[in-house]
Amino acid sequence: MKKIFAILSLIALAFVGFFKGEAMATEKQTVIILLGPPGAGKGTHAVELSKKLHLPHISTGDILRENLRKQTPLGERAKTFMDVGKLVPDDLVIQMLLDRVSDTDCQKGYILDGFPRTLAQAKMLDEHLKNRGEVVTVNLSVSDDLLVERITGRLVCKKCGTPYHKVFSPPKKDSLCDRCQGELYHRDDDNEKVVKERLAVYRSQTEPLINYYKEKKGLFYEVLAAGNKSEIFENLLHTIQKSIK
Ligand code: ADP
Ligand code: ZN
Repeated sequence: MKKIFAILSLIALAFVGFFKGEAMATEKQTVIILLGPPGAGKGTHAVELSKKLHLPHISTGDILRENLRKQTPLGERAKTFMDVGKLVPDDLVIQMLLDRVSDTDCQKGYILDGFPRTLAQAKMLDEHLKNRGEVVTVNLSVSDDLLVERITGRLVCKKCGTPYHKVFSPPKKDSLCDRCQGELYHRDDDNEKVVKERLAVYRSQTEPLINYYKEKKGLFYEVLAAGNKSEIFENLLHTIQKSIK
């Protein structure tokens, strides 16, 4: 009798385990892709979106800079490209992204900032996301002259990554983050020469992704990203919220 009871308990446990596993594997994800040139405000808005939507903000630029600081092998390889405004090779970035999105905090979805940046990255992401849920792509559009001005005046928090601008959105206290009191710094690649190269790279390798996503007939939106920051954010949030309901 005892034996039968033990066997039945085991079967019941196996069932529960199986269904739990299934539920986790099939949990629908919401993935938000922010497209747009450097300086369009992807990072600024992604930080806020992350709080409102309770999804992690994944910035490939931030992950790379973290690797640079820690002098990891990936960081060492990436540095030569980042310093001159070129893209880090696809194989490195793709692996790095796949690792990051397999973390448990990404189970419900995530917000991508700075990825994909090439057609190869976009195709890999499609393959990875197949049947996993909803993908919303938003392109933040801004004119070129504004971009250079925004980037060269940019300051970023060392601790939490929040971006500021010397003129357009200065911190309350000089060189300290309003949010976490972290130290603000000027990115090495945010100088005029490298910015011009980053914009050229954007035009040739990343801008074509707009048509790629338009032609896929998924959820694709354009949000004008010049003007008042909080108005742009409300517009962006509204666009996303109405599409993922
Ligand atoms: P930006 O302000 O130009 O959007 P990021 O912080 O996103 O800057 O990226 C900084 C640099 O990191 C890029 O110029 C590039 O060298 C590298 N990088 C970031 N994301 C990618 C990516 N998806 N593919 C290749 N390189 C990347
Ligand atoms: Zn901060």
